[in-house]
Amino acid sequence: MAADTNPFESLQSQIDDAAAHLDIGDDVIERLKHPERVLETNLTVELDNGDLERFKAFRSQFNGDRGPYKGGIRYHPGVSRDEVKALSGWMVYKCATVGIPYGGGKGGIIVDPAEYSESELERLTRAFATELRPLIGVDRDIPAPDVNTGQREMNWIKDTYETLENTTEPGVITGKNIASGGSEGRVEATGRSTVLAAREAFDYLDKDLDGATVAVQGYGNAGWIAAKLIDEMGATVVAASDSSGGIYNPDGFDPVAAKKHKNETGSIVGYEESEEEITNEDVLTLDVDLLIPAALENAIDGELAEEVSADVISEAANGPLTPEADAVMEDKDVFVIPDILANAGGVTVSYFEWVQNRQRFSWSEERVNDELETIIVEAFDALVETYEEHDLDNPRTAAYVVALQRVADAYDEAGSFP
Ligand code: NAD
Repeated sequence: MAADTNPFESLQSQIDDAAAHLDIGDDVIERLKHPERVLETNLTVELDNGDLERFKAFRSQFNGDRGPYKGGIRYHPGVSRDEVKALSGWMVYKCATVGIPYGGGKGGIIVDPAEYSESELERLTRAFATELRPLIGVDRDIPAPDVNTGQREMNWIKDTYETLENTTEPGVITGKNIASGGSEGRVEATGRSTVLAAREAFDYLDKDLDGATVAVQGYGNAGWIAAKLIDEMGATVVAASDSSGGIYNPDGFDPVAAKKHKNETGSIVGYEESEEEITNEDVLTLDVDLLIPAALENAIDGELAEEVSADVISEAANGPLTPEADAVMEDKDVFVIPDILANAGGVTVSYFEWVQNRQRFSWSEERVNDELETIIVEAFDALVETYEEHDLDNPRTAAYVVALQRVADAYDEAGSFP
C-alpha cells in the first residue's frame, strides 16, 4: 500500500490529465482543483468512564456549481485534511459523470470506532453534527455514509439537526434506514453500480461475464454486495479479502455464506469454502478476469500494479489506484472503470433518497434499481463515446473529460460573483 501517495495530489493530477484535452481556461481549471472551503474542528466528547477525549474532524465543500455539496462521512484513524479534500473533489466529478444535480463534499473524523462504545460513538456523532449544523442543509450540503459509518450514524445526524433546527428535514442526510426516511436499494447501490459498470465494460470489450473469475478486495458494504451481485450475474468469485487477510478458491465460493462467516467471526478469514488463505496483496494480483478493489485509496501503487493480472478493474473504492498504477494499467491495456463511475451508485441512490424525502413519497426497490441502471448505463455510454472521440489513453481520463466539462459549463453559465 502506497501510504505516502497524497490522494489530493492524485485528484489534481487526474484533473490535469483531463484538462489537457479540453478547451477550458487555466484559471477555471485552477478553481476546479481546490476546495471552496474546509471546516477543521476539534470535538470534545465525554467517554463512558467520565474522561474527556478530543477528536479532530473535517468537512470539505469542494465545489457547488452543479448543486448542493454532497458526500459521505468517514470514521477512520487514517483520516486527514488532504484525504477529505480529495474525497470531496472526487464527489464533484462523480456527480457530474453520472449527471446528478450535486456538487461535492466529504467529511471525516480521526477515530477508530472499534475502540469506542455505541454510546461514545453516538455522543461523538452528535458533537460532529452540531458543528456541521450551520454548513449542512437540504439545499446546502447533504452528508451520507462512508467507511465505518452507516444508517445508525446517519439517523443520529438527522435527529441532531432536526432537534437543533426544530424542524423535520429527512433530506438533510442520506443513507438513513427506511424507518427514518431512507430509500429502498441504498445499501446495495454502490456494489450494484460497480457490477453494472463491469457488465457494460465486458460487453464493450466483447468479453463474456458468464463464468468470468472475480477477486474482491475489501468485504464491507461495497465489496460484499458487489461479490453477491456479480455472482448472481453468472461470474465466479474466486477470492476476497478484508483487513485481516484473504481467501481463495479457484472453483469459486458462495459470497453470501462468506459474508455470514464474516458477520459471525469478524473476518472473512477462516471461511470453510476457502481452499487457501492468501494475503491482501495476493488478492490484488491474482490472474482473474475482473478485480474489484473495495477497501481504501492507494491500494495499488505503481510497483504492485506491475503484478496485477486482471483484465478489467471496476473501482468500488474511491481512489484505489495511484496515478503511477494508472500509468502501468494503461501500458498493460487493463480496462479500468474509474471510481467516479463505478461506485457512483451510492450517491445516485442517495440522490433518489433525497428526491423521495422532498416528495414525501417512497419509490419501490424495483423503481430505484431500474432508474439506477439507466443512469449507470448512460454514463458508461457517454464515457465510451468520449474515450473514442478524443482517442484517450484510458477510461478514467474520459470520465474526467466528461465531468470537468459539465462542471465548467455550470460555472460559466452562472457568471461570477462577486
Ligand atoms: P466498509 O467499512 O463497509 O468496508 C471496508 C472493507 O475494507 C472492510 O471489509 C475492511 O476490512 C476492508 N479493508 C480495509 N483495509 C483493507 C486492506 N488493506 N485489504 C483488504 N481489505 C481491507 O466501507 P465501504 O462503505 O464498503 O467503503 C469501501 C470503499 O468504497 C471506500 O473507498 C469508500 O469510500 C467507497 N465507497 C463506498 C460507498 C458506500 O455507499 N458505502 C459509496 C461510494 C464509495
